[in-house]
Amino acid sequence: VIDQGVPEHSVVTTCAYCGVGCSFKAEMKGDQLVRMVPYKGGAANHGHSCVKGRFAFGYATHKDRIRTPMIRDSIDEPWREVSWEDAIQFSARRLKETQAKYGRESIGGITSSRCTNEETYLVQKLIRAAFGNNNTDTCARVCHSPTGYGLKTTMGESAGTQTFDSVMQADTILVIGANPTDAHPVFGSQMRRRLREGATLIVADPRRIDLLKTPHGGRAMHLALRPGTNVALINALAHVVVSEGLEDQAFIASRCESGAYQAWRDFILEQRNSPEALEAETGVPAGKVREAARAYATAGNGAIYYGLGVTEHSQGSTMVMGIANLAMATGNIGREGVGVNPLRGQNNVQGSCDMGSFPHELPGYQHVADPVVRQRFEAVWKVKIDDEPGLRIPNMFDAAIAGTFKALYVQGEDIAQSDPNTQHVEAALTSLDCLIVQDIFLNETAKYAHVLLPGSTFLEKNGTFTNAERRINRVRKVMPPLAGKEDWEVTQDLANALGYPMNYSHPSEIMDEIAQLTPTFTGVSYAKLEELGSIQWPCNDTHPDGTPTMHQVDFPIGKGHFAVTEYVATDERANRRYPLLLTTGRILSQYNVGAQTRRTDNSLWHEEDVLEIHPSDAEVRGVRDGDWLGVASRVGHTVLRCKVSDRMLPGVVYTTFHHPGSGANVITTDNSDWATNCPEYKVTAVQVEKVTQP
Ligand code: SF4
Repeated sequence: VIDQGVPEHSVVTTCAYCGVGCSFKAEMKGDQLVRMVPYKGGAANHGHSCVKGRFAFGYATHKDRIRTPMIRDSIDEPWREVSWEDAIQFSARRLKETQAKYGRESIGGITSSRCTNEETYLVQKLIRAAFGNNNTDTCARVCHSPTGYGLKTTMGESAGTQTFDSVMQADTILVIGANPTDAHPVFGSQMRRRLREGATLIVADPRRIDLLKTPHGGRAMHLALRPGTNVALINALAHVVVSEGLEDQAFIASRCESGAYQAWRDFILEQRNSPEALEAETGVPAGKVREAARAYATAGNGAIYYGLGVTEHSQGSTMVMGIANLAMATGNIGREGVGVNPLRGQNNVQGSCDMGSFPHELPGYQHVADPVVRQRFEAVWKVKIDDEPGLRIPNMFDAAIAGTFKALYVQGEDIAQSDPNTQHVEAALTSLDCLIVQDIFLNETAKYAHVLLPGSTFLEKNGTFTNAERRINRVRKVMPPLAGKEDWEVTQDLANALGYPMNYSHPSEIMDEIAQLTPTFTGVSYAKLEELGSIQWPCNDTHPDGTPTMHQVDFPIGKGHFAVTEYVATDERANRRYPLLLTTGRILSQYNVGAQTRRTDNSLWHEEDVLEIHPSDAEVRGVRDGDWLGVASRVGHTVLRCKVSDRMLPGVVYTTFHHPGSGANVITTDNSDWATNCPEYKVTAVQVEKVTQP
C-alpha cells in the first residue's frame, strides 16, 4: 500500500511500534492508506521516523488479517466462522460456566501494551467489574514490571523522569542494557546528535552496540559486563561515587530520607562492593568502573537510559533501584539533562501500566487493598471490587497447570511466543477450558484458543498511547475496522453479555472516566489533547498542561528513598555442560515477535533469527557464518544459524526472537525477578554445537 497515488487527505496519528511514540500524517486516498509521513509537529519525533513507522504498515491490510470471529468447542476441532453476536455470547457462556464450576477466581485476562489506554482500561475494568476478581495482568509483566516496582519504591512514581529532548542537555549519557539505535531508533538518533556535540558516552552491556560506533567529540566507554551481573556493577559504580566523595550532599540532605540514605551509604561503602572486589564477577576492569563513575558523577548533567537489559533479570527490580540510588546520590534528578529514563519497548507499555493492568493496582498505580481508593472506583463502577491482588501471568500459568485456573481472555498479546519456557506456557494453555484470543492475526496463542475475536490495528481506532516520556498522544482512526469493530467495542460487548453494563459511545468518554478516577490524569481530556497536541502526565490542578520533568521540587512520596541493593547472583550460571550465556534482543527492521513486521517488506532485511557468537567460541566449535547450530539450555533445545561476531564477549551468545520458528523462548528459563516475576530472558546458560540441518 505504499505510494499508490496522490493523497486526498491526511490524518495525524501515532506510530504503534516502539515507546518513542512518533507522530505521523497518514496520507489517504479514500479508505486507502497511501503513505505515512513523519509529522513535524510531533513532540516526540519532530518530523523524524524510522523504517518501522515509516514503511512497515502494510500488515494492516495483509491477507492474513482475521476478518470474522471464530469459535470451536475444543482445540482439536476446526474453527467455525460465526457472527460477532454468536462469538460474544459463546464467550460469555463459557466464562460463566467456568466460574460456576470452578469459582470466581478461576478466570482472568491479559491486557496489551499494543492497545490504546482506553482499551486497556476497559479490559481491566471488565475483569474487576464483570469477572469479579483482580486476575488482570499485562504483557508489561515480561518487560518493564521491575521499572514500576523499582521507581515507585525509590522515587514514588512508576515512570521515567524526562522528555526525550532533555538528552540534548546531558553531559554524560549512561546507557545500561539498552540498544536505542535498533530498538528506539528516532531517540537513538537524537542521542547520537548529542554525542556528536561532545557528550560523554558510557555503555554498560555485554554486547558492543552500535551507539559505541558513533563518532563524537566526547569520550566513549564500554563496560562489557557478564550477563546477570548488573547489580554488582551498579553497586561498584556507587561505591566509587561515595568513597571518592562525589555525592551531591546538598541534594541528598534536602531531597532524600536521611535514615534510608545512611543505611544505603553504610552498605555501599563495604569493601565487597568496590570495583576491585567485584571485577572477577562482572568481568569489567576496576579501573574502567572508576573512570565511568567519575565521568557520570562529575559531568554536570548525568542522564541514565536503560532498557530490558536491566529489567529482564532475577534482580531486575533491584537494579532499577540501584539506578535510582545512583541518580539521587549524584543529584541527577529534577532538571533538564539528567534523570532516570526507562526506554519502553512497545508503544504503550507506559500506558498499559498506568491504566491499572496489574493485579494489585487500579489505574494510576492505586493499590486495590486501599479502601478509600476502592470506594472511589466502586462509586463510579457501581460494583464491589475485590481487595485481594489477583494472579500475575506466571501464576495464571501455574494455576492452569494445577487445574484451578480455567479460562483466560487475552487481548493483543501472543503469550505462546513471547513468554519464556514455551513448553510450560503450552502446558498451561492446553489446560484451559476456555481461551479467548483477540488479535489481528491467527497467532501462536490462537492454536490453543476456543474463541478468536478479530482485533483492530492502530489505523482502525480512536484512542491514546502513552510513550516512554509519559506523553499521551492521540491515535486517530484512519480507516474503518476490517472486521467491523474497534477493540474497545468488543470488550464492551463482552461485559454486557456477562451482565455488567457498559455504554460508551466513543473512547473520549472512557478517557473522561479515567481522568475522574486517576489523580495523575485529572486534567486530561480529548479536548485538551487537541489543544496541546500531547500531554505528559501528571496533568492535574497542580500541572494543568502536564509535566515534562518530574521530581523538580519533591518526590510524590515526599523524600527520595535509597534502597539497599544487595547483589545476589542468578541461579542461571554457566558450567561445563552449559558453558555459554545466551542473551536476547531486537534488530532495527523487526519488532518483537514479528507478527506485524514479518508481514511487511521489512522482512527483506531480516529473514531469520541468528545466533551471534564470538570468534574464539566459534573457532573452538569449528563453526563459521551460515552453519547450523544446535542450542540447548536446561529447559529446551533449538537450532539457529551461526553468525560470528566480535560484538559479543567471549562466553556470551546472542539472538533475536522475531521469528516463531527460531525457538528463542523454547530455551529461556522460568527464572524471574524476585519482586515482579519479570522473566530472566537475558541470562540463559546454553551449550552450542554444530549440527547438520535444522
Ligand atoms: Fe515508530 Fe519507534 Fe520508529 Fe518512531 S522510532 S517510527 S515510534 S518504531
